[in-house]
Amino acid sequence: MALLRLRVLIERYKWREKEKTLMSQEAYDIIIVGAGAAGCVVASYLAEHTDASIALIEAGDTDRDPFIHIPAGFAKILAHDRHVWKYETVPQHGTKRAYRSGKVLGGGSSINAMAYVRGQIRDYAAWQDAVGDTGKWSYQDLLPVFMAQEDNDTFHDEYHGINGGLAVQLPKGINELNQYCLKAFQEYGIPFNPDYNGKSQIGVSPVQSTVGNQRRCSAVDAYLRPHLASGRVTLLTGKTVVRILVENKRAVGVELMDKGLRITAGEVVLSAGSVHSPKILMHSGIGPAEQLRQHGIAVIVDSPEVGENLHDHAIVPVRAYVKGDLGYQAAAQGLGTVKAGLRYFVTKDGPASGNGIETVSHWNPSDFAAEPTIQCYHVPIIAADGISPTGDRSGITFELVVLQPKSRGWVRLADSDPTSMPLINPNFMGEEEDLRAAVESVRAVRKVMAQESLAPVIAEEIEPGPPIQSDAEIGEWVKRVVTTMFHPVGTCRMGQDARAVVDARLRVRGVDGLRVIDASIMPNITSGNTNAPTQALARHGTGMLVEDLKRA
Ligand SMILES: Cc1cc2nc3c(=O)[nH]c(=O)nc-3n(C[C@H](O)[C@H](O)[C@H](O)COP(=O)(O)OP(=O)(O)OC[C@H]3O[C@@H](n4cnc5c(N)ncnc54)[C@H](O)[C@@H]3O)c2cc1C
Repeated sequence: MALLRLRVLIERYKWREKEKTLMSQEAYDIIIVGAGAAGCVVASYLAEHTDASIALIEAGDTDRDPFIHIPAGFAKILAHDRHVWKYETVPQHGTKRAYRSGKVLGGGSSINAMAYVRGQIRDYAAWQDAVGDTGKWSYQDLLPVFMAQEDNDTFHDEYHGINGGLAVQLPKGINELNQYCLKAFQEYGIPFNPDYNGKSQIGVSPVQSTVGNQRRCSAVDAYLRPHLASGRVTLLTGKTVVRILVENKRAVGVELMDKGLRITAGEVVLSAGSVHSPKILMHSGIGPAEQLRQHGIAVIVDSPEVGENLHDHAIVPVRAYVKGDLGYQAAAQGLGTVKAGLRYFVTKDGPASGNGIETVSHWNPSDFAAEPTIQCYHVPIIAADGISPTGDRSGITFELVVLQPKSRGWVRLADSDPTSMPLINPNFMGEEEDLRAAVESVRAVRKVMAQESLAPVIAEEIEPGPPIQSDAEIGEWVKRVVTTMFHPVGTCRMGQDARAVVDARLRVRGVDGLRVIDASIMPNITSGNTNAPTQALARHGTGMLVEDLKRA
């Protein structure tokens, strides 16, 4: 604890120093907007491969909150809405849904659930199709990148690396309820797969997580911290960028919210995430011309798809009470958290040392041998809001996700005020095909619960609940409960076509010296959680920026 406090004091001192000097040092070779999962990778890679002066600007605070670093602490952070941008969606099937993203050094990588999932080969084949022969974004191109970033505690083979900064681990133990899940999925017909990031994703598996030495490994821990300590990267926290400054179709810097302060740069990289990157572009005059004019923003580049193509993984939670005290319901609340916390501080193990999500399955309910269309985390608690445990009774939540949703939504400006939150429409289950897949997955999970290993411990299905049986009834229930898994992507789509926001080198079309490098550039979402793919695309994209800088 003493060491932690010392580190906090040093960080605070450095931060104040930056505050003081901000007015005097106004120019950098490269400015990165957003120190999230991608921004930390971009800054670190640039620090390692160029001599450029680098400013990393983050709207949130530093990551000094100890709950960020304790793996199970993310539930506390989310329950109290700490370190997040709080938004809500426009009504989805009649009601608004809560939406969040990280607002802190490390962005989502500092507050997320730490699941490490790369996706499927066909996801990246679609990225390659999007750019054609103008770039290299296939799985074969990205696999070496994933491996270079990774420090895996178990696997070291043709799929996994051990020399990168990003700690990846298998769970240190699998609780009894999740052991039953592992068996029940196999009884249902889904094979056991020890490594869903290896040869195939198909199967029921232990969850790989970005945790090392019982601490969260955020993108800050994985790559950035040494470059902050050496001063190679100048970090400005608590500074919100409102627009990119563009002169003669070239980005020349950024404007901050406070006092309209301007910082100039030779290159600007936008890594503000899938909600804020398109918002900042639009406030800078880069976006759909008609929308910009509506809000009185002068159009610099008519880029019709800025903010379009929003898609996300929508969660459908099937919940059941279980018998006895199986799972983590008791450990996740009241005296249980105190006990788990004490155990963590004394022995560094127990429920607080992991993310509490120990098994997962990826499968196609209509063909067990085919590439998975559904992901299902087996979360051993009942939480009505998906985050904080609800009630004393133990239970299991099967978080069902349609991996390759067809539905597309958008992020649009609410008004001309850059401090306003944008309008967000993820369009959950907007396409009939997604709804059909979700309904099929609910039916499948009911069959899993009826298998030999789970049936004896399931006490009662809570949701959807026994009265809901027909496809139409399940479909209506899905529309009522569906919510975000916090994986927004696609709003600054990469492609070779003229409507794409960025090209295959992630350069914003129509403006020189400006790139977007974050989850928003994905043309299509990866089949799984998006943190690892975002960090991989960030390294790959920054490699291209470095090549271009050297060529210039
Ligand atoms: C609650 C939650 C749980 C998740 N769980 C998982 C998981 O278990 N596994 C997984 O793989 N993925 C998970 N994700 C998703 C993953 O974290 C994201 O895909 C990833 O963080 C996206 O990276 P990014 O760099 O695009 O954006 P972010 O990580 O969101 O980074 C954007 C950064 O830019 C900053 N910023 C925004 N606007 C401005 C501005 N105007 N000026 C300055 N700075 C700005 C933000 O504050 C933020 O720090 C989760 C996300 C959340 C929110």
